[in-house]
Amino acid sequence: MSAKIQAPRGTYDVLPHLADERARLETAAAKIFARAGYGRIETPTFEATQLFARTVGEATDVVQKEMYTFEDGSGDSMTLRPEGTAPAVRAYLEHGKARDPQPVKFWYLSQFFRYERPQAGRFRQFWQIGAEAIGSADPAVDAEVILLLAELLEAIGARDVKLVLATLGQPESRAAYREELKAYLRAHEDQLSREVVERIDLNPLRAFDAKHESTQRVMANAPRLIDRLPQEDLDHFAEVQDLLRAADLAYEVDTTLVRGLDYYTRTLFEFQSGALEAAQNTLGGGGRYDGLAEAIGGPPTPGMGWAAGVERMLMASTQTPPVEPPVDIFVAYHPGHKLAAFKLASDARRAGHSTRLELAGRSVKGQLKQASRIRPRYVAIFGDEGVQLRDRDGGEDKLVAPETVMHHIRGTL
Ligand code: AMP
Repeated sequence: MSAKIQAPRGTYDVLPHLADERARLETAAAKIFARAGYGRIETPTFEATQLFARTVGEATDVVQKEMYTFEDGSGDSMTLRPEGTAPAVRAYLEHGKARDPQPVKFWYLSQFFRYERPQAGRFRQFWQIGAEAIGSADPAVDAEVILLLAELLEAIGARDVKLVLATLGQPESRAAYREELKAYLRAHEDQLSREVVERIDLNPLRAFDAKHESTQRVMANAPRLIDRLPQEDLDHFAEVQDLLRAADLAYEVDTTLVRGLDYYTRTLFEFQSGALEAAQNTLGGGGRYDGLAEAIGGPPTPGMGWAAGVERMLMASTQTPPVEPPVDIFVAYHPGHKLAAFKLASDARRAGHSTRLELAGRSVKGQLKQASRIRPRYVAIFGDEGVQLRDRDGGEDKLVAPETVMHHIRGTL
């Protein structure tokens, strides 16, 4: 026997019982987005590598070590999408959406790919639901977009959810702050973890995320970005908070919040769930990305969005067991009557009835055992004398001619 081939590490199969709960999540999302005027988009599974390198950021873990990148037949570098915002903005620019009334509002439900260490709630191929509102810098966009994710998490019954907010300001103030933070980190190098020291130049903000104890002590006194932001950024942030309060959405401000993608400006947020393990407790998050369109060759275009992990949302919510849809007709047959039975099953399905037919060559006894498990409204048993028609909801079995079965059940289902 050949070696057994299995699904790649960090991937999983969505079997029918899991597909049901996903379908419910999708239905809930579609309703919420439709009410707010967001239209669904689907972009290609792979894009030019540059799209992500220039937006997600060369120094991020995603671009440095997590992308599935390959050269295609023409020698062009392609990457399986690790996230959905850069593709959405690319599509907005490519289709001239700047000419539509702004903001243009998209949502998506798609698969994404990151070469990460597989663990609970962390996969190499995973699903995200996301929303993007492109073309307006109004703080009301930030608040609306955040509310949509709050609504979705509530609709699916996500447990123990907390919204955390932060603001990053603009690239200029961030760059100046970055230099200040780097200098602070260098001055305390001897107390920092090796990993943090190695990344001082590449990604100093990540030091706030470190689990290492003495690093955490150093970071407690580190300069904070929020104390270095210009007034207009602080005003924007204050208005976002006013709007969220007006909509009765509770939140916490955490000035050290960082996310793994470089394109964020101003508002940044995350929804976390206490029902998940701390290392993977973020259900979803996002923020503003006012510089993203320019990074991929477009005109200055503000934008705001989020992505939430489907697997984590399902893990954090209480699932009601799926209800099996009722079956209208079960078609059984004695040997020699397979063709007529098959014909009835296909006629009944064409007429819109949920129908099951014996497909594994069971004895009549076996077939009826199946039927009693499924509990259909009708059982039609094809035999030499005709069709024995049994109605779960009424009286004695009837013996009818094969071509009249549809006539007998018409109007009752
Ligand atoms: P990000 O695109 O990194 O901002 O992630 C947004 C959300 O997508 C996270 O909060 C997770 O719920 C989910 N997510 C990101 N990466 C993974 C992964 N490797 N496996 C499963 N879910 C993920």
